[in-house]
Amino acid sequence: MPSRAESDLSIPTRQKAALFRRQGGPVTVEEVPVVQPEELKPNQALVKVIYSGVCHTDLHAMLGDWPLENKLPLIGGHEGAGIVVAIGEHSDTDLKIGDKVGIKWIADCCLKCEMCRKGYEPACSKAQCSGFNVDGSFQQYAVSYTRQLSRIPDGLPLEDAAPILCAGVTVYKALKESGCQAGDTIAIPGAGGGLGHLAIQYANIMGLRVIAIDTGDEKRDLCSKLGAEKWIDFTQVDDIVKALKDATEDGLGPHASIVTSSSGKAYEQAMEYIRPHGTVVAVGLPPSAKVNADVFWTVFLSKKLVGSYVGNRQEAAEALQFAAAGKIKTKYVIQPLSRLPMIYEQMHSGQLAGRVVLDLHAE
Ligand code: NAD
Ligand code: ZN
Repeated sequence: MPSRAESDLSIPTRQKAALFRRQGGPVTVEEVPVVQPEELKPNQALVKVIYSGVCHTDLHAMLGDWPLENKLPLIGGHEGAGIVVAIGEHSDTDLKIGDKVGIKWIADCCLKCEMCRKGYEPACSKAQCSGFNVDGSFQQYAVSYTRQLSRIPDGLPLEDAAPILCAGVTVYKALKESGCQAGDTIAIPGAGGGLGHLAIQYANIMGLRVIAIDTGDEKRDLCSKLGAEKWIDFTQVDDIVKALKDATEDGLGPHASIVTSSSGKAYEQAMEYIRPHGTVVAVGLPPSAKVNADVFWTVFLSKKLVGSYVGNRQEAAEALQFAAAGKIKTKYVIQPLSRLPMIYEQMHSGQLAGRVVLDLHAE
């Protein structure tokens, strides 16, 4: 049964939104105008956001710790799940009012350049990012772009869909980039976080064996419940390279490492502990972090370093399908929008296991 918020498709003139005016905050929840249907441009849609996941990227954007400039003031959020309530005139789209859709990090791109034509949509030089260059899903009614909205499959509740729209698609794509095959072993630094705990599940579906790396009892229990075979607490080991090699039967180390940590430390030795012909997939985006790679051993042992940045429309659709089939379950707690500043504090200090999903219409 759709909730009351989901079935009421009327469009008010004012709404609640969480925003900040300068880098570092404060983040405040305020009443702001709702863009009205007649103000929408062609290929824009107004989405009534019902739930939105909170990604560590939203925190990076608020703190301004990346070498990129975002719009200000900014309404963050890029894991928005909701309902189309209006579509701009002259839009070229199959979407209809009442359709369930997801707002991803990539809000729009040109779909004409070489990057787009090759399916590398996030690399389009005209790409717009939700909750970064355009206002995102931490508001009750968000303007987004019909070409990049994801359809949410029937039977997938909106609160379950939200975290898949960034965390899910990102790790699903990163696992493909690892080049791993069924039976291979992957390390996941950051395994207890939003991205990492979904990476364990997509890895299991792909037939991979998982060594989870993170810290604390809650994250350890979550990782093992989700099917990680081994657990390494990064605060408890002095020699992470030895710990990773020892965690594989033949002592050669994992075939790949999907680094989903928000701290640079997790990158430092990843090129050292992967086995020959292994791959480090860089996903987490800690500011000013470096990957240390010794050129001689990188060549001699044929190792690879690959960056992986969200996913395209097809990868988002695939990632959502696994969730709709019940094979991927985000561990989340639902919180009202007003808690966002507190959630950022908990995220900053590494206290969150899994994801937080905001209910945009909770009192
Ligand atoms: P999160 O805060 O939920 O999880 C990060 C996890 O990393 C935490 O559980 C933390 O305990 C763990 N961690 C910290 N230091 C570690 C270390 N040294 N070794 C192992 N684990 C460590 O964050 P999230 O939302 O999952 O995002 C993670 C990172 O991924 C962020 O930097 C975010 O910006 C980035 N991100 C990248 C993409 C992409 O397209 N590449 C997409 C989404 C998010
Ligand atoms: Zn994200």
